[in-house]
Amino acid sequence: MKTIPHWIGGRPVAEAGAGVSPVFDPATGEQSGEVLLAGPGEVDAAVRGAAAAFERWSQAPLSRRTAVLFAFRQLVHEHTDELAALVSAEHGKVLADARAEVQRGLEVVEFACGIPHLLKGDYSDSAATDVDAYSFREPLGVVAGITPFNFPVMVPMWMHPLAIACGNAFILKPSERAPSASLRIAELWAEAGLPEGVFTVVNGDRTAVDALLDHPGVAAVSFVGSTPIARHVHRRASAAGKRVQALGGAKNHAVVLPDADLDGAADHLLAAAFGSAGERCMAISAAVAVGGIADELAQTLRDRARRVVVGPGNDPASEMGPVITAAARDRIVDLVTTAEHEGGELVVDGRGLRVPGYENGFFVGPSVIDRVRPDMTVYREEVFGPVLATLRAADADEAIALINANPYGNGAAIFTSSGAAARQFQRGVSVGMIGINVPVPVPTAYYSFGGWKDSLFGETHVHGPEGVAFYTRGKVVTARWPRAQATFSFPTSR
Ligand code: NAD
Repeated sequence: MKTIPHWIGGRPVAEAGAGVSPVFDPATGEQSGEVLLAGPGEVDAAVRGAAAAFERWSQAPLSRRTAVLFAFRQLVHEHTDELAALVSAEHGKVLADARAEVQRGLEVVEFACGIPHLLKGDYSDSAATDVDAYSFREPLGVVAGITPFNFPVMVPMWMHPLAIACGNAFILKPSERAPSASLRIAELWAEAGLPEGVFTVVNGDRTAVDALLDHPGVAAVSFVGSTPIARHVHRRASAAGKRVQALGGAKNHAVVLPDADLDGAADHLLAAAFGSAGERCMAISAAVAVGGIADELAQTLRDRARRVVVGPGNDPASEMGPVITAAARDRIVDLVTTAEHEGGELVVDGRGLRVPGYENGFFVGPSVIDRVRPDMTVYREEVFGPVLATLRAADADEAIALINANPYGNGAAIFTSSGAAARQFQRGVSVGMIGINVPVPVPTAYYSFGGWKDSLFGETHVHGPEGVAFYTRGKVVTARWPRAQATFSFPTSR
């Protein structure tokens, strides 16, 4: 059984001020390791080390920073399979999916490689007589990232490549349920030439999180996780005077209009609902059939959901792996049972699935529940498992109203062959990321990722231009070089 330490000051540190937590292989259900949990003492040491590193790294010229970023990009690319295996072993997702998450993280590193261009300021020659004005952006200092279990490589990479490119020192507090990949990432940063202390990993649970939120040496916090914790992080870090972006949970809808290619839409819906066992913040968990197609869609979904191949993540034949913990599996099973009691029509029942040879694994099969109503528990709560609820709407307006009445606003998709209907949808829904015949519309790295309403607390989305803005603050210089007369009246541009 392995022990997973922290990464502080450029080396592994084995201290456990807040105890230890088990790490499981979700496919077998066996404990594969234990992760050391940082207490306030380790967090303080990490922040102090990062603050010292910031003093030097923030002075590193852009050419040096980009050299490190390009080297890091190459190393992550070369170690994609190894990182994917670490993710799959602790998260349970299938290897192809894990490789894809590393690839999507890598795209943020590639965006960050363009940091000299991204940090260019403005320049106004002769803003006033003999006066020039110009702006530039500076890093914040020590910034922290607190991340969920479901994308152990990609979600931290929404944060650290840009934060570091901007000249900050970054402290990552990964999920205690899937911590190993972050340690490997720390080694790759070191190999790429990043000075010690610029990238730090503090493993831990709520104790470490709260220590980071309260620490006066932390300037900003990026959080991704469930909505209740996002709200807590936003409130507590804001109260401590920090800049915060806190991304929360989701209930993503896919609307299927009668003019859509039904076959194609059904395939996409299933992949988006059951890929990664539904443990994606952009998973489709609610399908809304519009008009007369509902029965046909439900029938197609039923036939195909039953054929999804469920098995361990490291079996190339598996399309879907286990969920993260036994507790998560039991909660998902309970939500399906409740849906049945509350009047849902359980057309595919994933409860009680047994995977031969993996009887103790945290498996639950795909479930499809038809005729779900907005008042039902399975619709109101984020299930975060392989459960697809289907609802019915008379027309597109009713479908849009349904989405807008939901407290979450992460992603929403529409399947249609009508440009006018798609345009009405993209303009009408109160959601941050929209897919048009694309079920999982995760923006590319040069756009920013983020939801609305209870899916994000704070003003800025992650990565892309808003990521650069989040990890820097602006300065405007008004400069005069020739000798000029001082005046007691307020300076104007004339
Ligand atoms: P989580 O909220 O339980 O944990 C996220 C992080 O917060 C972890 O690092 C954890 O250690 C820490 N944490 C947990 N409880 C805490 C507490 N009481 N106080 C302080 N910190 C605490 O989330 P999870 O189960 O790891 O991940 C799944 C959730 O993340 C889902 O709700 C999913 O929708 C969401 N998510 C959102 C996005 C997005 O972009 N909006 C992306 C991925 C995941």
